[in-house]
Amino acid sequence: MGSTKDQTMKTLATALLMICVTSLPVSADDAGPPIGDAIKSVPIFDAHVHYKEPAWSPYPVETVIGLMDKSGVAMALVSSTPDDGTIMLWEHAPGRIVPELRPYHGAAGSSNWAQFPGMYDYLKQRLDKYPHEGIGEFHIHSIDPNDRPLLTQVAKLAVERQIIIHVHSGAAPVKLLYDLEPGLTIIWAHAGMSEPPSVVGPMLDSYPTLHADMSYREGDILRGNPIDPAWRALILKHADRLMVGTDTWVNGQWDNYQGLIAENREWLSHFPREVAEQIAFRNAERLFKRKISMDLIGTK
Ligand SMILES: [Zn+2]
Repeated sequence: MGSTKDQTMKTLATALLMICVTSLPVSADDAGPPIGDAIKSVPIFDAHVHYKEPAWSPYPVETVIGLMDKSGVAMALVSSTPDDGTIMLWEHAPGRIVPELRPYHGAAGSSNWAQFPGMYDYLKQRLDKYPHEGIGEFHIHSIDPNDRPLLTQVAKLAVERQIIIHVHSGAAPVKLLYDLEPGLTIIWAHAGMSEPPSVVGPMLDSYPTLHADMSYREGDILRGNPIDPAWRALILKHADRLMVGTDTWVNGQWDNYQGLIAENREWLSHFPREVAEQIAFRNAERLFKRKISMDLIGTK
């Protein structure tokens, strides 16, 4: 039989233990066992595909869908220069392609599109004609007050039509877009490309509708043992808003498409199944209201 003093000590020790257990940071062990090789049978939503004009001849639409089939990519978010590439791919395989509208065409490119004459009308006409579910991927290289009128219109258009914005930029333009239209849903291309986790994490904390595709960040993520600790913490915390992507902006990316998807499966394999599946396809299912599974492989 313990004395009252013993019991008090025991209660105190239990309380202390509870505090310790509940305040432990999320570590690899707490996150659960990694999915490992089983990632190979998880379908992928590729959130960053372009089907630009130089790809049309060496990579006809059948070949592109064939590459997706071989890589277990069930569905892809596609934007192209010009937009005809996206429409060709979507018309060939509407069940596999989520089209989004890239502003670039003719002389309008990444550095002048936001001040290009007639751009707003062009965007509106294309959105009226085709079922794009986003505007982008477009670049905002720096904050230019002369871009503001069109960016304001584009942000409004996206909110009105309930479609996403896909932007390749640093953190400041993302903040600007949310200032213009707080109701936006944004996919941040390449998670800011060169922005470090110390910037990307707080951005995701600040904006609950901000998502990110991790294309071109595979090397940063895998620069650990095996995963960079800062990226690992960010990925575990924001698994519900990240996606993978290949960014087929030049044909070299198509040449290596299966390798790029394999590299994404590699980093995902180090995370628990729930986290890996969210990033591989479940976040896209929610964002684009689709059903994504391996059953789509081999279909159009
Ligand atoms: Zn891109």
